Amino acid sequence: MSVVEETAGLRQEVTELLQALIRADTVNPPGNETRAAQILVDYLAECGIQSGLIARVPERANLVARIPGAGGPSLAFLCHTDTVLADPAEWERDPWSGELVDGEVWGRGALDMKGQVAASAVAFASLQREGFVPSGDLLFIAVADEEVGDGYGLRWLVEAHPEAVRCDYALNEGGGDRLVLGGRPVYLCATAEKMSAPFLLRVHGRSGHASMPGIADNALVKASRYVDALAAYEPEPELIPEAQGFLEAVLGEAPPLEEALQRANELHPMLGALVQPLLALTLSPTMIEASRKRNVIPAVCEVTVDCRLLPEQTPQDAEPLVRAVLGEGDYELEWIEAVGGTRSPLETPLWDAVASFVQELEPGAVLAPIACPGFTDSHFLRESFGTVAYGFFPVKAMDPVLATTLVHSANERVPVDDLEAGVHMLRHVTRSLLG
Ligand SMILES: [Zn+2]
Repeated sequence: MSVVEETAGLRQEVTELLQALIRADTVNPPGNETRAAQILVDYLAECGIQSGLIARVPERANLVARIPGAGGPSLAFLCHTDTVLADPAEWERDPWSGELVDGEVWGRGALDMKGQVAASAVAFASLQREGFVPSGDLLFIAVADEEVGDGYGLRWLVEAHPEAVRCDYALNEGGGDRLVLGGRPVYLCATAEKMSAPFLLRVHGRSGHASMPGIADNALVKASRYVDALAAYEPEPELIPEAQGFLEAVLGEAPPLEEALQRANELHPMLGALVQPLLALTLSPTMIEASRKRNVIPAVCEVTVDCRLLPEQTPQDAEPLVRAVLGEGDYELEWIEAVGGTRSPLETPLWDAVASFVQELEPGAVLAPIACPGFTDSHFLRESFGTVAYGFFPVKAMDPVLATTLVHSANERVPVDDLEAGVHMLRHVTRSLLG
């Protein structure tokens, strides 16, 4: 079979597989990811690949398939099969139709992330059909329960079945967006993520009748100045490796931070907003609770603050900063949780493999690292096995701003051109890394 024929075949194959996956409703909650896992089991079986379902409860299966290698470092295609919900009333088409319209496949999960699930399965199966023998194991891991994280997906697998999912390298969601900066295309690769570490700010006062404010000490009023202080906070920027790597890739050199930021801003108006979360923790007050009665002045006011820490920063590191922002006062801080926040190194064979794909996809384009502001399953592999896990799936045909707005929103769809590029990326990376 010629290269052209093989390419055309894979394009068709990934489109049809994605359509089938979208038609299997896996909205989480409740998930029902076994529906998607079974489609993948059947598809892989047609290509002569045996895969295993590993499930805590029958309706929420995770799928793992493996092409055994010769003992070298292993590579996993990691993805999740659940989706967030969709309200059909907001959509122009049925969210579970999988319709192909003007070269785009429509439906919930097309971008996040059944498109990458389908591309991973097709890349995996096509390599097996060609008789490719990897130097290390090649794994395809399609997990349940990423969107909610109730303990049915990768968080559970790394503890209950570590040998099934242990890997040295992994490619997951979280990156692949294309920006044109100073005339040069830049593809983003997610090599780290920020830690989600929200906290409660509990402000104390003294209750009293609202008709006589002078006799009370209103905790809500006191809290307002802390909310102002949190909103006005401008953290001291810190050049973490991901920000340094990003600025170097974009500017071609690493000038001092302030100059780098200014030059980045001049390159693209969106760049400042993109780089800023990479430079420091962020503090966003989002919820407030005080008195439950109109005529009672509250003795306590609780403000929930969404806080995102830099990779490897901890709440213990952040607390003195937060206290300095708030100043002295009658309040306490209570950290609610601390999730994510891991990073992988930047100079790795996986990086080189993705970078060489980007060169092939678009000569002159560069790959730039980024830390995801949000959480992905890459965190569990990094934390459990020290896996080098990157988020990358090329978004070339679709405008990245449009793609970002469609994720978790109405009218989600993916261009078949991007699906096809994704299949090529996964095949290219596998051949470079495990060839
Ligand atoms: Zn996702």
